[in-house]
Amino acid sequence: MINIILYFFSASAFLLFSTAAFISLKENEAFAVKRFSLLTIVSPLPFLSLALFDFAFKNEITIALFILIGGFVVVVLLPIGKNKNYRQTIPAQKQDERDIMFSRSELEPDSENFENYYSRNPDKKELDDNFRSQSGLLEPGTTQYNPFHFASADASFETIEKLRDFVNGEKSKNKIPVDPEEISNYIKRWSKKLGAVDCGVTALKEYHLYSVGGRSERYGKKVVNNHKYAIAFTVEMAKEMVSSAPSGSMIMESGRQYLESGKIALQVAKFIRNLGYEARAHIDGNYEVICPLVARDAGLGEIGRMGLLMTPKLGPRVRISVVTTNLPLVTGKPLNDYSMIDFCAKCEKCAAACPGKAIPFGEMKETGGIKRWRINPEACFTLWTSLGTDCGRCVSVCPYSHPDNILHNTVRLGIKNSSIFRALAVKLDDLFYGRKPRPAKLPDWLRIKIKNN
Ligand code: SF4
Ligand code: SF4
Repeated sequence: MINIILYFFSASAFLLFSTAAFISLKENEAFAVKRFSLLTIVSPLPFLSLALFDFAFKNEITIALFILIGGFVVVVLLPIGKNKNYRQTIPAQKQDERDIMFSRSELEPDSENFENYYSRNPDKKELDDNFRSQSGLLEPGTTQYNPFHFASADASFETIEKLRDFVNGEKSKNKIPVDPEEISNYIKRWSKKLGAVDCGVTALKEYHLYSVGGRSERYGKKVVNNHKYAIAFTVEMAKEMVSSAPSGSMIMESGRQYLESGKIALQVAKFIRNLGYEARAHIDGNYEVICPLVARDAGLGEIGRMGLLMTPKLGPRVRISVVTTNLPLVTGKPLNDYSMIDFCAKCEKCAAACPGKAIPFGEMKETGGIKRWRINPEACFTLWTSLGTDCGRCVSVCPYSHPDNILHNTVRLGIKNSSIFRALAVKLDDLFYGRKPRPAKLPDWLRIKIKNN
């Protein structure tokens, strides 16, 4: 009987690791393929040896092996280390959009806005001169310059820019009565048909809104938005485009998914206005809200170490858009998922891999009245302007960014359940994917030859 169990474990180990190797092959994870292939060969050997050969302490070793396997399963499945008291941090004050890097990068030297901004924030002048001395996003002369990649990304961003005028509009005079639950479900289902991977609703809070606008014609104007609800949508960034970050494929994918998420928000906002209710879409370059905070409160994820929304299935490998509205809706609940924050506390992989050294190591710190991890936005953006792309190395290496499939979802289950497994999963991710994974090769179709004039 014992021998049958040993053969069963031997076959299971072979099947488990060969499947993992096959999945990794499909994911183009060469490092993981090698490691899983080795385990496919090595892992059945202890069970086969115990089944086939007689030697001293055979029974004791067999029992110890079974206890080890049983212990591992318990660690993965049992809910150990759930912090029920965990609550998400609430910003103490609103953010001024003029302080974000995109807004600062759009300031024209010697203009009135430029002079005003740096007279109010003299400490930022020298920091910002650093990125101004670089070639700039999507510009020739940057280290990742590729005319095809940059022209593609620029095409997406220019298209979004053209759509900014449609974020708002007149609502229909004919108001259609709605049931909040039904219409909330309808919007969630429809947004997924339009391409969203997730959709959630929250009450619009003051801290979701910027205090003052910082882009184009909204610059310097107080943000006034009296809507009651905010709907957040996430869309997936393709893994094959993100894996070779910080190459041009990263900014191509950012542009594409800002556009895709923006299109969803524009259509949903227009739909709501057609029903006779106010609605405004918040899309790239025209946000009144801080999307990650809205998405977090709508139950779509947590804010991780790199300051981005971390979703349970795709990690930070998403882009977000939002619709604010007065359409009566049913709000969701924040995840309050301590396991993601605890994993970030143990992991630090993005901090180790960040070429700009912009992501902090260690515990959360008190900043602006709240405890959080705060990235160094100037260091990050200055790197972008020398690369020409939006880098994304942090998004690429994050263990949560692995594809949504049985291999990684099993690991995610363990991470969610057990604090011990979280510590183990960090080590396993390093073992199979590397502590500082090198950028993957560009997909073949993106390796287009650049001809000289
Ligand atoms: S890489 Fe690790 S520390 Fe960084 S956001 Fe992802 S899980 Fe958190
Ligand atoms: S985008 Fe790049 S520079 Fe910025 S935080 Fe992420 S890894 Fe660091």
